[in-house]
Amino acid sequence: MMKFPLLDLKAQYRSIEKELKERVSEVLDSQMFILGAEVKDLEEELSAYVGAKHAIGVSSGSDALIISLMALQVGPGDSVVTTPFTFFATGGAIARLGAKPVFCDIEPNTFNIDTAKLAELLEIEIEKKGNSQIKGIIPVHLYGQCVDMKPIQSLAEKYDLFVLEDAAQAVGSEYLMDSEVKRACTLGDLGILSFYPAKNLGACGDAGMVLTNDQNLMERIRLLRVHGSSNKYMYDIIGGNFRMDAIQATVLRVKLKHLDSWIMGRQQKAARYETLFSSAGLLEKGLIQTPEAVYRNAGLKYFHTYHQYVIRADSRDDLQLYMREKDVPSAIFYPMPLHLQKCFVYLGYREGDFPESEKSASEVLALPIYPELSEENQDYVVSTIKDFYAER
Ligand SMILES: *Cc1c(COP(=O)(O)O)cnc(C)c1O
Repeated sequence: MMKFPLLDLKAQYRSIEKELKERVSEVLDSQMFILGAEVKDLEEELSAYVGAKHAIGVSSGSDALIISLMALQVGPGDSVVTTPFTFFATGGAIARLGAKPVFCDIEPNTFNIDTAKLAELLEIEIEKKGNSQIKGIIPVHLYGQCVDMKPIQSLAEKYDLFVLEDAAQAVGSEYLMDSEVKRACTLGDLGILSFYPAKNLGACGDAGMVLTNDQNLMERIRLLRVHGSSNKYMYDIIGGNFRMDAIQATVLRVKLKHLDSWIMGRQQKAARYETLFSSAGLLEKGLIQTPEAVYRNAGLKYFHTYHQYVIRADSRDDLQLYMREKDVPSAIFYPMPLHLQKCFVYLGYREGDFPESEKSASEVLALPIYPELSEENQDYVVSTIKDFYAER
């Protein structure tokens, strides 16, 4: 068995190599590298793809979060609620603006923020304690699966909070809102995407995007992206360098045309995993839980884009060691929830505060998923997992 990676970006690259090289070469010929026509065209194509009125290309997904919070004028004395079971950037962006991240536990079936617990938290903080510092919510569509956004919208309306969707892992993910199919980044006031190379739509470096239907926010973000300058060397507000570069935009424009078929490829691999795990008899024994099973339990039927294919596994750490010995790649997203991170000790959280996030951190395991994953390799992933449990 040849070794294979958790994500094979080289296979994707080979399929579009010729066009990518031609287009990047055109940018090199132009010697125009920052913003410009390529970024503008990408913004138009992505806002059409997502179904948002405006798109602003920025330097990374993390910067997209920061510039969005800057546009919303979040700062010291403010609090923003989010999930502790996410990539660091979500909580980090809140803290970097001097605001306080307030965490709310996840719903175990989707790994996303628990909207019932969120309602409880907001009621206690805002209604009972009179806490007026909470300004907004950042729901994170983890692994490519949309948060249940309807209750989030109602809570945001009730308490007059902003909603900033962290869709870094969820480009193209869909949600049924009042019987209308909507894509991630159109379900709140603002949404952000990351084009980190390993994301479903990846650049050849760092890049990100903010999407919104709000004209005022769009204008503010465009200003903030270039140090707050509306006219050359005249500064209206204090921004920063959040610019996207033309080479990233060109690469993303080439890839965007393939995104839907790549997503479909991932969904087919996910469906095939389900069949394989089921015929291996692992599901009924409860040794692992596949995404299909957990979402079915939650009674949810959303359009999952499988940025990651994540199972819950009994004896996860031993399983991962065993898989490593057999050259089966896997990864843990994420091994430690944000409320237990050293840098957030000052927030005063303790172990046990968010049991579902903590439990998930000890159970989740991401398996290889990409359109080019061969059936042979996928079979090997499942048979190795089956062997592990058979030998115990
Ligand atoms: C990747 C990611 C980000 C940050 O994106 P970068 O482009 O790497 O800065 C933010 N939030 C989540 C949930 C992510 O997965």
